[in-house]
Amino acid sequence: EVRVRFAPSPTGMMHLGGLRTALYNYLFARSQGGKFILRIEDTDQTRLVPGAYENIIEVLDWAGLTPDEGPHVGGEYGPYVQTQRLPIYQEKIQELLKTGAAYKCFCSEKRIHLLKKEAAKMREVFKYDNKCRSLTPEEVDKNMANGLPYTVRLKLEDVKKPWDDMVFGPLSSDIANHEGDPVLMKSSNQPTYHFANVVDDHLMKITHVLRGVEWQGSTPKHLLLYRAFGWEPPRYAHLPLIVNSSGKKFSKRQDDVRVEHYMKNNYIPAAVLNLITLVGGGFTENQPSGRTLEELVPLFTISSIVQSPGKLKLERVDEMNKLHLIRKLQDPAERMELINTLRNVVKTKYSSKGEMIEIDEDVLTDEFIGKIFDNFLQERICRVEDFVKDDWEFLWTRPTKVSVKEIQSILQNEPNMFWDLCKEVESMPESEFTQEKFLARLKEFAKRNNYKIAHCMKLLRQSISGKTGPPVAEMIDVLGKKITLQRLQYFSQ
Ligand code: GLU
Repeated sequence: EVRVRFAPSPTGMMHLGGLRTALYNYLFARSQGGKFILRIEDTDQTRLVPGAYENIIEVLDWAGLTPDEGPHVGGEYGPYVQTQRLPIYQEKIQELLKTGAAYKCFCSEKRIHLLKKEAAKMREVFKYDNKCRSLTPEEVDKNMANGLPYTVRLKLEDVKKPWDDMVFGPLSSDIANHEGDPVLMKSSNQPTYHFANVVDDHLMKITHVLRGVEWQGSTPKHLLLYRAFGWEPPRYAHLPLIVNSSGKKFSKRQDDVRVEHYMKNNYIPAAVLNLITLVGGGFTENQPSGRTLEELVPLFTISSIVQSPGKLKLERVDEMNKLHLIRKLQDPAERMELINTLRNVVKTKYSSKGEMIEIDEDVLTDEFIGKIFDNFLQERICRVEDFVKDDWEFLWTRPTKVSVKEIQSILQNEPNMFWDLCKEVESMPESEFTQEKFLARLKEFAKRNNYKIAHCMKLLRQSISGKTGPPVAEMIDVLGKKITLQRLQYFSQ
């Protein structure tokens, strides 16, 4: 049985790179009829960020990437949080000490610090000199008896035989030439990432590791650990880097790299997943878009993941979102859901502005909101939230930004225009509130009363939307007779 895991460290809020790793693991598990496991790698307590754990759970839940096993859902191989597994690591490290694959290192922090300083002076990468490898058993015993603190290190050897990365092909490394023996257990009795990661992958029966390419350099160490234990390693697939449009790594400070940003702004989860699937390959279809999570499952294939970094154009998320909005509107239940979302967005937005802005009651009906979607989605709207941008305020409330000057200058010469317009609109049947019919009627009205049509338009615009909004006839088309008239009357008084 295929078993994969997403193993984030709660050291910051989830970003799109993390979401991609989770997504690919999920898709691989689902496409293979396997299990998707969530494991929290929190052994480095100094880097923990408050709220990061909750954020991981929320993001996965929002995106629909529900784990089969994990800290919040349980499972046979728990606990799924590494700090709750410390006794396991302590037991496992004894095995390696017994076989001599690992050794106790008594080098003081001060000595390590000096070595690092020296390396820096020579402009070299720090490399532990493996001094304690050659301690005799008597020396070790003596140090222990003296209560000296110690770490446990792995005896690094070269991984001469290449291993097969499912994305990058055969790889080998002469790691022992470049690095000193790595620490497995810190003097505080806490495991390092490498050790806990390998022990857990083995005990949780992980068959495939799909993770970011930044971990590829650690793989030889992990393979050596498997060898030291005499365990069968999983297969590795490293996922290419995701970079920004200019080819640089995303910065953690960048807001729109965090998944939270998309959650807060009411993006459709599948649209954000689609943003990610636009780069890096991994599907039998090139750049799948407008696909639901379920639809991505049968399309997923590791063999088409590419090696080169993928340039992600974040702004394309809007386009992806629109595709999903259009799809959802066609499904009655999902259409209703969107209508409710928009209603809530409108209520929240305008209730927070205080009493100055009242929403027209008639615009909160299912019918009206549905019509708004049908009329405007195709052209200008990418997200539900877009409907409460300033340009669209006319949909929900009478204008707040009116040009009194403009109204006055028209009424100076044509003092009855407001009044006449009101009467005209009042006399029109509801069926004439479509763009063409309204325009035709307005022209006829202007002619009949000897008014300039441009002035009529200006008055209408001022009373319906103020300075903003689409063409007048288009606004009238959606607002209908009742609201148009109400607004005209309000301003004509
Ligand atoms: N804890 C590591 C991370 O934060 C996991 C790396 C791995 O998947 O092995 O990405």
